[in-house]
Amino acid sequence: MTQNYGTVPSTLGLRSSLHTPSFSPLLPANVSAVGNNNVLPMTAPAIRIPFTGPLPPPIIVPPSARTVSGAIDALLSFLTAPPSPYLRGVDVGRNAQTVLLTGAGISVASGLSDYRGENGTYVTNKTYRPIYFHEFAKRHESRKRYWARSFVGWPGLVKAKPNLTHWAIKDIGTKGYLSSVVTQNVDSFHSFAHPELSTLELHGYLRSVVCLTCRDQVPRDEFQKSLERLNPTWAEFLARMVETGALDTDHPEEQRRKGLKLNPDGDVDLAEAPYSTFRYPSCPRCLEKPPRLKDGTLARVEVENDGAWLPTSTAGILKPAVTMFGENIDPDVKTAAEEAIDDAGRLLVLGSSLATYSAWRLVERAHKRGMPIGIINIGGVRNEPVLFGTQLEKPDAELGLRCSLNTELILPEVVRQLSALAHM
Ligand SMILES: [Zn+2]
Repeated sequence: MTQNYGTVPSTLGLRSSLHTPSFSPLLPANVSAVGNNNVLPMTAPAIRIPFTGPLPPPIIVPPSARTVSGAIDALLSFLTAPPSPYLRGVDVGRNAQTVLLTGAGISVASGLSDYRGENGTYVTNKTYRPIYFHEFAKRHESRKRYWARSFVGWPGLVKAKPNLTHWAIKDIGTKGYLSSVVTQNVDSFHSFAHPELSTLELHGYLRSVVCLTCRDQVPRDEFQKSLERLNPTWAEFLARMVETGALDTDHPEEQRRKGLKLNPDGDVDLAEAPYSTFRYPSCPRCLEKPPRLKDGTLARVEVENDGAWLPTSTAGILKPAVTMFGENIDPDVKTAAEEAIDDAGRLLVLGSSLATYSAWRLVERAHKRGMPIGIINIGGVRNEPVLFGTQLEKPDAELGLRCSLNTELILPEVVRQLSALAHM
Protein backbone atom coordinates (compact mmCIF):
# COMPACT_ATOMS: atom_id res chain seq x y z
CA MET A 1 0.00 0.00 0.00
CA THR A 2 1.53 3.30 -1.03
CA GLN A 3 1.25 5.92 1.64
CA ASN A 4 1.04 9.52 0.62
CA TYR A 5 1.72 11.73 3.61
CA GLY A 6 0.52 15.05 2.33
CA THR A 7 1.10 17.88 4.72
CA VAL A 8 -1.42 20.46 5.74
CA PRO A 9 0.35 23.59 6.92
CA SER A 10 -0.79 24.36 10.44
CA THR A 11 -0.17 28.06 10.10
CA LEU A 12 -2.90 28.38 7.51
CA GLY A 13 -5.56 28.00 10.15
CA LEU A 14 -6.84 24.91 8.45
CA ARG A 15 -6.99 23.28 11.83
CA SER A 16 -10.07 25.35 12.48
CA SER A 17 -11.75 23.28 9.85
CA LEU A 18 -9.88 20.03 10.43
CA HIS A 19 -10.72 19.42 14.03
CA THR A 20 -13.74 21.30 15.19
CA PRO A 21 -15.22 19.91 18.35
CA SER A 22 -18.46 21.67 19.10
CA PHE A 23 -17.95 22.86 22.62
CA SER A 24 -16.03 21.88 25.68
CA PRO A 25 -17.14 22.87 29.12
CA LEU A 26 -15.13 21.44 31.97
CA LEU A 27 -16.44 18.36 33.70
CA PRO A 28 -20.19 18.32 34.09
CA ALA A 29 -21.28 18.61 37.70
CA ASN A 30 -22.34 14.97 37.97
CA VAL A 31 -18.93 13.48 37.19
CA SER A 32 -17.43 11.95 40.26
CA ALA A 33 -13.76 11.75 40.96
CA VAL A 34 -12.79 8.21 41.81
CA GLY A 35 -9.98 7.81 44.29
CA ASN A 36 -7.86 10.76 43.28
CA ASN A 37 -7.42 14.42 43.93
CA ASN A 38 -6.22 15.38 40.53
CA VAL A 39 -9.38 16.09 38.55
CA LEU A 40 -10.73 19.31 37.14
CA PRO A 41 -13.15 21.46 39.13
CA MET A 42 -16.69 20.13 39.49
CA THR A 43 -18.34 23.30 38.23
CA ALA A 44 -19.31 23.59 34.57
CA PRO A 45 -18.61 27.04 33.14
CA ALA A 46 -19.44 27.21 29.46
CA ILE A 47 -15.89 27.19 28.15
CA ARG A 48 -16.09 26.66 24.47
CA ILE A 49 -12.47 26.06 23.59
CA PRO A 50 -11.01 22.72 24.65
CA PHE A 51 -8.63 22.67 27.55
CA THR A 52 -5.35 23.76 25.99
CA GLY A 53 -2.93 23.64 28.90
CA PRO A 54 -0.57 20.76 29.65
CA LEU A 55 -2.25 17.62 30.92
CA PRO A 56 -0.89 15.55 33.83
CA PRO A 57 1.48 12.71 32.89
CA PRO A 58 -0.27 9.56 31.65
CA ILE A 59 -1.18 6.72 33.98
CA ILE A 60 0.12 3.46 32.47
CA VAL A 61 -2.05 0.34 32.89
CA PRO A 62 -0.89 -2.39 33.05
CA PRO A 63 2.67 -1.27 33.93
CA SER A 64 4.03 -3.55 31.16
CA ALA A 65 2.30 -1.28 28.60
CA ARG A 66 5.21 1.14 28.94
CA THR A 67 7.01 -0.74 26.20
CA VAL A 68 5.74 -1.34 22.69
CA SER A 69 5.74 -5.13 23.11
CA GLY A 70 3.97 -4.82 26.46
CA ALA A 71 1.35 -2.56 24.93
CA ILE A 72 0.82 -5.00 22.05
CA ASP A 73 0.22 -7.86 24.49
CA ALA A 74 -2.11 -5.69 26.58
CA LEU A 75 -4.16 -4.66 23.56
CA LEU A 76 -4.42 -8.29 22.42
CA SER A 77 -5.80 -9.26 25.85
CA PHE A 78 -8.13 -6.27 25.81
CA LEU A 79 -9.62 -7.02 22.38
CA THR A 80 -9.96 -10.77 22.81
CA ALA A 81 -11.33 -10.84 26.37
CA PRO A 82 -14.83 -12.16 27.08
CA PRO A 83 -17.48 -9.60 28.11
CA SER A 84 -16.55 -7.95 31.38
CA PRO A 85 -18.37 -9.26 34.48
CA TYR A 86 -18.78 -5.62 35.54
CA LEU A 87 -20.97 -4.60 32.55
CA ARG A 88 -24.24 -3.20 33.80
CA GLY A 89 -27.80 -3.17 32.48
CA VAL A 90 -27.17 -4.66 29.08
CA ASP A 91 -27.83 -7.82 27.08
CA VAL A 92 -24.98 -10.11 26.18
CA GLY A 93 -25.33 -9.44 22.41
CA ARG A 94 -22.25 -7.77 21.03
CA ASN A 95 -20.62 -7.25 24.40
CA ALA A 96 -17.54 -9.13 23.33
CA GLN A 97 -16.88 -6.45 20.72
CA THR A 98 -15.05 -3.15 21.07
CA VAL A 99 -16.22 0.24 19.90
CA LEU A 100 -13.45 2.65 18.86
CA LEU A 101 -13.35 6.36 19.58
CA THR A 102 -10.66 8.09 17.53
CA GLY A 103 -9.19 11.59 17.57
CA ALA A 104 -6.70 13.84 15.80
CA GLY A 105 -3.71 11.88 17.13
CA ILE A 106 -4.24 9.04 14.67
CA SER A 107 -4.19 11.37 11.66
CA VAL A 108 -0.80 12.91 12.51
CA ALA A 109 0.96 10.18 10.53
CA SER A 110 -1.06 11.29 7.51
CA GLY A 111 0.49 14.74 7.76
CA LEU A 112 -2.35 16.45 9.64
CA SER A 113 -1.53 18.28 12.86
CA ASP A 114 -3.26 17.43 16.08
CA TYR A 115 -3.88 19.88 18.91
CA ARG A 116 -1.61 18.87 21.74
CA GLY A 117 1.01 16.59 20.24
CA GLU A 118 4.63 17.60 19.77
CA ASN A 119 3.75 19.77 16.77
CA GLY A 120 0.15 20.31 17.75
CA THR A 121 -1.65 23.49 16.83
CA TYR A 122 -1.88 24.70 20.43
CA VAL A 123 1.82 24.01 20.93
CA THR A 124 3.24 25.64 17.80
CA ASN A 125 0.77 28.50 17.46
CA LYS A 126 0.01 30.07 20.82
CA THR A 127 -2.32 32.66 19.31
CA TYR A 128 -4.32 30.11 17.37
CA ARG A 129 -8.02 30.76 17.69
CA PRO A 130 -10.57 28.79 15.68
CA ILE A 131 -13.65 30.38 14.17
CA TYR A 132 -16.90 30.18 16.09
CA PHE A 133 -20.15 29.15 14.46
CA HIS A 134 -21.95 32.38 15.31
CA GLU A 135 -19.18 34.44 13.69
CA PHE A 136 -19.33 32.33 10.56
CA ALA A 137 -23.12 32.36 10.35
CA LYS A 138 -23.51 36.07 11.00
CA ARG A 139 -20.54 37.79 9.40
CA HIS A 140 -19.76 37.98 5.70
CA GLU A 141 -16.26 39.22 6.63
CA SER A 142 -15.60 36.16 8.80
CA ARG A 143 -16.70 33.84 6.01
CA LYS A 144 -14.41 35.54 3.48
CA ARG A 145 -11.48 35.02 5.81
CA TYR A 146 -12.47 31.45 6.60
CA TRP A 147 -12.90 30.46 2.97
CA ALA A 148 -9.68 32.19 1.89
CA ARG A 149 -7.74 30.12 4.44
CA SER A 150 -9.64 26.98 3.61
CA PHE A 151 -9.10 27.52 -0.13
CA VAL A 152 -5.33 27.57 0.35
CA GLY A 153 -5.35 24.60 2.74
CA TRP A 154 -7.55 22.33 0.67
CA PRO A 155 -4.94 20.87 -1.76
CA GLY A 156 -2.89 19.63 1.21
CA LEU A 157 -5.88 17.91 2.71
CA VAL A 158 -6.83 16.30 -0.59
CA LYS A 159 -3.34 14.81 -0.79
CA ALA A 160 -3.44 13.37 2.72
CA LYS A 161 -4.38 9.69 2.92
CA PRO A 162 -5.23 7.17 5.66
CA ASN A 163 -2.21 5.68 7.45
CA LEU A 164 -1.19 2.38 9.06
CA THR A 165 -3.56 2.91 11.99
CA HIS A 166 -6.62 3.23 9.75
CA TRP A 167 -5.61 0.15 7.76
CA ALA A 168 -5.05 -1.84 10.94
CA ILE A 169 -8.50 -0.82 12.17
CA LYS A 170 -9.91 -2.19 8.93
CA ASP A 171 -8.19 -5.53 9.56
CA ILE A 172 -9.19 -5.77 13.22
CA GLY A 173 -12.76 -5.00 12.15
CA THR A 174 -12.68 -7.71 9.48
CA LYS A 175 -11.66 -10.22 12.15
CA GLY A 176 -14.85 -9.39 14.05
CA TYR A 177 -13.41 -7.65 17.10
CA LEU A 178 -14.99 -4.23 16.47
CA SER A 179 -18.63 -3.18 16.56
CA SER A 180 -18.13 0.28 15.05
CA VAL A 181 -15.98 3.41 15.01
CA VAL A 182 -16.91 6.81 16.39
CA THR A 183 -14.49 9.50 15.25
CA GLN A 184 -13.88 13.11 16.17
CA ASN A 185 -11.91 13.52 12.96
CA VAL A 186 -13.38 15.26 9.92
CA ASP A 187 -10.83 13.94 7.39
CA SER A 188 -12.98 10.97 6.20
CA PHE A 189 -10.00 8.60 6.48
CA HIS A 190 -12.04 5.96 8.32
CA SER A 191 -14.81 5.66 5.75
CA PHE A 192 -12.14 5.58 3.04
CA ALA A 193 -10.06 2.86 4.70
CA HIS A 194 -12.87 0.63 5.99
CA PRO A 195 -16.24 1.36 4.34
CA GLU A 196 -17.53 -2.02 5.57
CA LEU A 197 -17.00 -1.13 9.24
CA SER A 198 -19.54 1.45 10.37
CA THR A 199 -18.10 4.91 11.17
CA LEU A 200 -19.93 7.72 12.90
CA GLU A 201 -18.39 11.15 12.30
CA LEU A 202 -19.15 12.94 15.55
CA HIS A 203 -18.07 16.38 14.31
CA GLY A 204 -19.07 16.02 10.67
CA TYR A 205 -16.75 15.97 7.70
CA LEU A 206 -14.84 18.30 5.39
CA ARG A 207 -15.70 16.43 2.20
CA SER A 208 -18.89 18.50 1.82
CA VAL A 209 -20.26 21.95 2.47
CA VAL A 210 -23.80 22.34 3.77
CA CYS A 211 -26.34 25.13 3.29
CA LEU A 212 -27.34 26.86 6.53
CA THR A 213 -30.83 27.41 5.13
CA CYS A 214 -31.91 24.29 3.21
CA ARG A 215 -29.25 21.85 4.58
CA ASP A 216 -28.45 20.69 1.04
CA GLN A 217 -24.86 19.54 0.63
CA VAL A 218 -22.32 20.24 -2.11
CA PRO A 219 -19.08 18.24 -2.45
CA ARG A 220 -16.10 20.28 -1.21
CA ASP A 221 -14.20 19.52 -4.44
CA GLU A 222 -16.95 21.14 -6.46
CA PHE A 223 -17.05 24.08 -4.04
CA GLN A 224 -13.26 24.50 -4.44
CA LYS A 225 -13.74 24.82 -8.20
CA SER A 226 -16.33 27.56 -7.61
CA LEU A 227 -13.87 29.36 -5.32
CA GLU A 228 -11.20 29.11 -8.03
CA ARG A 229 -13.55 30.56 -10.59
CA LEU A 230 -14.67 33.43 -8.31
CA ASN A 231 -11.14 34.27 -7.12
CA PRO A 232 -8.81 34.03 -10.13
CA THR A 233 -5.90 35.87 -8.46
CA TRP A 234 -6.04 33.49 -5.52
CA ALA A 235 -6.33 30.52 -7.87
CA GLU A 236 -3.14 31.58 -9.66
CA PHE A 237 -1.39 32.07 -6.35
CA LEU A 238 -2.50 28.66 -5.11
CA ALA A 239 -1.37 26.96 -8.31
CA ARG A 240 2.03 28.61 -7.83
CA MET A 241 2.25 27.48 -4.20
CA VAL A 242 1.36 23.90 -5.15
CA GLU A 243 4.10 24.04 -7.77
CA THR A 244 6.81 25.39 -5.45
CA GLY A 245 5.85 22.91 -2.73
CA ALA A 246 5.24 25.72 -0.21
CA LEU A 247 2.15 23.89 0.99
CA ASP A 248 4.07 20.68 1.68
CA THR A 249 5.82 22.10 4.70
CA ASP A 250 4.83 23.43 8.11
CA HIS A 251 8.10 25.29 8.46
CA PRO A 252 7.51 29.08 8.24
CA GLU A 253 10.96 29.87 6.83
CA GLU A 254 10.74 27.22 4.17
CA GLN A 255 7.25 28.45 3.32
CA ARG A 256 8.55 32.00 2.94
CA ARG A 257 11.41 30.81 0.77
CA LYS A 258 8.89 29.08 -1.46
CA GLY A 259 6.77 32.20 -1.77
CA LEU A 260 4.15 31.69 0.91
CA LYS A 261 3.97 34.71 3.20
CA LEU A 262 1.67 34.73 6.17
CA ASN A 263 0.67 37.64 8.33
CA PRO A 264 0.98 37.29 12.13
CA ASP A 265 -2.55 35.88 12.38
CA GLY A 266 -1.58 33.04 10.07
CA ASP A 267 -3.57 34.43 7.16
CA VAL A 268 -2.34 34.55 3.61
CA ASP A 269 -2.83 38.10 2.48
CA LEU A 270 -2.14 38.71 -1.17
CA ALA A 271 -1.00 42.27 -1.88
CA GLU A 272 -3.01 42.27 -5.08
CA ALA A 273 -6.06 40.57 -3.55
CA PRO A 274 -6.48 40.81 0.23
CA TYR A 275 -8.75 38.22 1.77
CA SER A 276 -11.35 40.93 2.37
CA THR A 277 -12.00 40.71 -1.38
CA PHE A 278 -12.38 36.92 -1.32
CA ARG A 279 -15.66 35.73 -2.82
CA TYR A 280 -17.68 32.55 -2.33
CA PRO A 281 -20.73 31.08 -4.07
CA SER A 282 -24.28 30.76 -2.81
CA CYS A 283 -26.11 27.49 -2.25
CA PRO A 284 -27.17 26.45 -5.78
CA ARG A 285 -30.49 25.09 -4.58
CA CYS A 286 -31.50 28.22 -2.64
CA LEU A 287 -30.41 30.35 -5.59
CA GLU A 288 -32.59 28.42 -7.99
CA LYS A 289 -35.63 28.33 -5.71
CA PRO A 290 -35.45 30.74 -2.77
CA PRO A 291 -36.79 28.92 0.29
CA ARG A 292 -39.32 30.16 2.85
CA LEU A 293 -37.78 31.47 6.04
CA LYS A 294 -39.02 30.54 9.50
CA ASP A 295 -41.29 33.59 9.57
CA GLY A 296 -43.01 32.42 6.37
CA THR A 297 -41.52 35.06 4.09
CA LEU A 298 -39.64 34.15 0.94
CA ALA A 299 -35.86 34.30 1.34
CA ARG A 300 -33.82 36.63 -0.82
CA VAL A 301 -30.80 35.03 -2.49
CA GLU A 302 -28.75 37.54 -4.45
CA VAL A 303 -25.52 36.95 -6.30
CA GLU A 304 -23.17 38.85 -8.57
CA ASN A 305 -23.30 38.06 -12.28
CA ASP A 306 -20.76 35.29 -11.87
CA GLY A 307 -22.48 33.70 -8.87
CA ALA A 308 -20.66 35.26 -5.88
CA TRP A 309 -22.99 35.47 -2.87
CA LEU A 310 -24.06 39.01 -1.96
CA PRO A 311 -24.53 40.16 1.64
CA THR A 312 -27.96 41.56 0.75
CA SER A 313 -29.12 37.90 0.72
CA THR A 314 -31.08 36.41 3.61
CA ALA A 315 -30.30 32.76 2.79
CA GLY A 316 -28.06 30.37 0.88
CA ILE A 317 -24.89 30.50 2.99
CA LEU A 318 -22.67 27.43 2.63
CA LYS A 319 -20.65 26.17 5.59
CA PRO A 320 -18.22 23.24 5.90
CA ALA A 321 -20.21 20.17 6.99
CA VAL A 322 -18.28 20.06 10.27
CA THR A 323 -19.39 21.07 13.73
CA MET A 324 -17.77 24.40 14.55
CA PHE A 325 -17.00 25.73 18.00
CA GLY A 326 -20.19 27.00 19.58
CA GLU A 327 -22.35 24.84 17.35
CA ASN A 328 -24.27 21.90 18.76
CA ILE A 329 -23.74 18.39 17.52
CA ASP A 330 -26.59 17.14 15.34
CA PRO A 331 -29.02 15.46 17.81
CA ASP A 332 -29.29 12.37 15.57
CA VAL A 333 -25.51 12.01 15.55
CA LYS A 334 -25.40 12.44 19.33
CA THR A 335 -27.98 9.68 19.79
CA ALA A 336 -26.23 7.39 17.30
CA ALA A 337 -22.93 7.87 19.16
CA GLU A 338 -24.56 6.88 22.45
CA GLU A 339 -26.06 3.83 20.77
CA ALA A 340 -22.65 2.90 19.38
CA ILE A 341 -21.27 2.92 22.93
CA ASP A 342 -24.21 0.91 24.30
CA ASP A 343 -23.92 -1.59 21.47
CA ALA A 344 -20.42 -2.71 22.50
CA GLY A 345 -18.86 -4.33 25.54
CA ARG A 346 -15.65 -2.31 25.66
CA LEU A 347 -14.33 1.02 24.45
CA LEU A 348 -10.93 1.74 22.94
CA VAL A 349 -9.86 5.39 22.51
CA LEU A 350 -7.11 6.05 19.96
CA GLY A 351 -5.28 9.37 19.59
CA SER A 352 -7.52 11.61 21.66
CA SER A 353 -6.85 13.48 24.89
CA LEU A 354 -10.63 13.75 25.41
CA ALA A 355 -10.31 17.51 25.80
CA THR A 356 -13.58 18.08 23.99
CA TYR A 357 -16.70 17.50 25.98
CA SER A 358 -18.51 15.52 23.26
CA ALA A 359 -15.75 12.88 23.36
CA TRP A 360 -15.39 12.81 27.13
CA ARG A 361 -19.16 12.41 27.50
CA LEU A 362 -19.07 9.14 25.52
CA VAL A 363 -16.18 7.79 27.57
CA GLU A 364 -17.99 8.74 30.75
CA ARG A 365 -21.07 6.87 29.48
CA ALA A 366 -18.99 3.76 28.83
CA HIS A 367 -17.37 4.06 32.24
CA LYS A 368 -20.75 4.26 33.97
CA ARG A 369 -21.90 1.16 32.06
CA GLY A 370 -18.95 -0.73 33.48
CA MET A 371 -17.30 -1.13 30.09
CA PRO A 372 -13.55 -1.80 30.16
CA ILE A 373 -11.81 1.24 28.69
CA GLY A 374 -8.56 1.33 26.77
CA ILE A 375 -6.79 4.54 25.79
CA ILE A 376 -3.78 4.71 23.49
CA ASN A 377 -2.72 8.34 23.31
CA ILE A 378 0.64 10.04 23.51
CA GLY A 379 0.62 12.26 26.58
CA GLY A 380 -1.96 12.85 29.27
CA VAL A 381 -5.70 12.43 28.86
CA ARG A 382 -8.29 14.57 30.57
CA ASN A 383 -9.76 12.91 33.65
CA GLU A 384 -7.75 9.72 33.28
CA PRO A 385 -7.49 9.29 37.06
CA VAL A 386 -11.30 8.94 37.03
CA LEU A 387 -10.99 6.06 34.56
CA PHE A 388 -7.85 4.31 35.76
CA GLY A 389 -7.23 5.51 39.31
CA THR A 390 -8.77 2.47 40.96
CA GLN A 391 -7.25 0.06 38.48
CA LEU A 392 -3.72 0.70 39.63
CA GLU A 393 -4.27 -1.90 42.34
CA LYS A 394 -5.64 -4.44 39.85
CA PRO A 395 -3.76 -3.83 36.61
CA ASP A 396 -5.50 -6.34 34.39
CA ALA A 397 -5.42 -5.44 30.70
CA GLU A 398 -8.79 -7.12 30.14
CA LEU A 399 -10.40 -4.55 32.42
CA GLY A 400 -8.52 -1.49 31.28
CA LEU A 401 -5.59 -0.43 29.15
CA ARG A 402 -3.72 2.85 29.06
CA CYS A 403 -0.53 3.54 27.21
CA SER A 404 1.23 6.58 25.85
CA LEU A 405 2.60 5.27 22.58
CA ASN A 406 2.04 5.79 18.88
CA THR A 407 -0.89 3.69 17.60
CA GLU A 408 1.11 2.97 14.42
CA LEU A 409 3.65 1.04 16.48
CA ILE A 410 1.00 -1.14 18.09
CA LEU A 411 -2.01 -1.78 15.91
CA PRO A 412 -0.33 -3.35 12.84
CA GLU A 413 1.47 -5.88 15.06
CA VAL A 414 -1.77 -6.63 16.89
CA VAL A 415 -3.31 -7.44 13.51
CA ARG A 416 -0.49 -9.89 12.77
CA GLN A 417 -0.88 -11.59 16.13
CA LEU A 418 -4.66 -11.80 15.80
CA SER A 419 -4.13 -13.51 12.44
CA ALA A 420 -1.76 -15.97 14.09
CA LEU A 421 -4.35 -16.65 16.82
CA ALA A 422 -6.98 -17.39 14.18
CA HIS A 423 -4.72 -20.03 12.62
CA MET A 424 -3.90 -21.81 15.84
ZN1 LIG B 1 -29.70 26.12 0.34
